[in-house]
Amino acid sequence: MTTRMDMLDTECEVLVIGGGPAGSTAATLLTRYGRKVVLLEKAHHPRFHIGESLLPMNLPLFERLGVLDKVRAMGVFKPGADFEADNERGYNTFAFNRAIGKSPPHAYQVWRQDFDKMLFDHARATGADAREGHEVVAVEQVDARRSHVEVRVDDGGTYRITAQYIVDATGRDTLLSSKKHLRRKNHEHQSAAIFGHFRGAEYRPGEDAGNISIYRFAHGWMWMIPLPDGVMSIGAVCRPAYLKQRKGKTVDFLWETLRLNEGVKKRIEQAELIGGEVRVTGNYSYDSTRMGGPGWVMVGDAFAFLDPVFSSGVYLAMSGAEQAALAVDQALREPRREMSLLRRLEKRQRAGMARFAFFIYRFNSPIMDAMFRSPRNTWQIEQGVISMLAGDLFDSPKVLSRLRVFKLIYVMSALRDFARWYRERRYRLQQARLQFTGGTTPVDRQ
Ligand SMILES: Cc1cc2nc3c(=O)[nH]c(=O)nc-3n(C[C@H](O)[C@H](O)[C@H](O)COP(=O)(O)OP(=O)(O)OC[C@H]3O[C@@H](n4cnc5c(N)ncnc54)[C@H](O)[C@@H]3O)c2cc1C
Repeated sequence: MTTRMDMLDTECEVLVIGGGPAGSTAATLLTRYGRKVVLLEKAHHPRFHIGESLLPMNLPLFERLGVLDKVRAMGVFKPGADFEADNERGYNTFAFNRAIGKSPPHAYQVWRQDFDKMLFDHARATGADAREGHEVVAVEQVDARRSHVEVRVDDGGTYRITAQYIVDATGRDTLLSSKKHLRRKNHEHQSAAIFGHFRGAEYRPGEDAGNISIYRFAHGWMWMIPLPDGVMSIGAVCRPAYLKQRKGKTVDFLWETLRLNEGVKKRIEQAELIGGEVRVTGNYSYDSTRMGGPGWVMVGDAFAFLDPVFSSGVYLAMSGAEQAALAVDQALREPRREMSLLRRLEKRQRAGMARFAFFIYRFNSPIMDAMFRSPRNTWQIEQGVISMLAGDLFDSPKVLSRLRVFKLIYVMSALRDFARWYRERRYRLQQARLQFTGGTTPVDRQ
């Protein structure tokens, strides 16, 4: 007798595991290249996800996918990102229309559950066999062009898929990276996020109303993201030790945390938390020692995750998936080129991430704080930073050269600060020594 599960047993050329932005992008494009694609998502769309602020460089990609109009219809217009400053209004806007590379002059902010559903439905409409409520529970690779995958359906039962190629887009579940022991946690950059959705929070005035606002505080940083229907996503990314201090109700802890920054405190005076619902999520950064091998590749958060201060996650996930789809299609046509295609893909993805990472991991340093508070546009450096914030980090030589100069200035400022600290420390030690020996000779500060 044939059971329903036997009927689901499938053979395909490409199996994409995970129906978030990375998986749906890869599935759409590979289907368009003529591949027989199965896309599996363990949840049912629409499902909650954090990560609502998109970057301008996402827009050309939406256009290539054929979803730009849908994003435009569901999103809040995002003209820029603003950061605290010591000026009269208290912030500086890094407006995307001042970017020097090839990024569009704005982006959008979206409800992720609607956005992810739209991308998933689009993959299905393109022709991918897209299944929801289907979780991959085991992967066994037989050889470079054959993997057996066990799938559990959420209404009971399991079945098997045999695929020539596997694209792992399982997000922070990191299915293959964990299974193959490739995952490297970044111990220096561990953090956790606490957030909620609010009504009644104060918007920036005028044309800045759709900005994402970023604030620093002693334990990390905070975001305010305007979403459709007058809702604002507000949260804080904090070091785990701070989050562990919390006693009492999580909802009270969220309010207390947000009030630690005077700017945020003022903007949430009239706000109310929708449904009293607060979410907490681990947020540490990681990557994998490899991005792929014969017959498999990882995309999006399944490969690596960076702290989300510059809203880079969805763009990195989708652009990486677009490049991976090209590489997989070519590898299936010309297996001899597979390893060089994967190496090129990984090099490109790591280079883009490293360019973001330089800014992210120094974000709370006093020098970076000063550079964002009082940006100078000498040699178009400020505009280069705007292009970075727009996600234009892969192919614009003009932007990359400005970012190199920015880095140089940062390093020189850090060296200058270190030299000052070192001189002062030496002076204090000499003073202490003189007092101890009863000497009277003054020591010059050099
Ligand atoms: C606090 C916080 C704030 C953020 N803010 C932003 C932001 O403002 N802008 C931004 O661009 N990014 C942001 N990000 C990052 C962003 O959320 C991710 O980078 C992005 O969602 C990655 O997309 P993805 O497709 O790789 O993974 P995901 O979107 O996580 O999708 C993975 C999918 O795989 C499915 N899955 C997992 N395991 C299996 C399995 N075994 N079988 C089948 N399906 C499976 C999951 O259910 C999920 O739907 C933020 C992240 C955090 C933690």
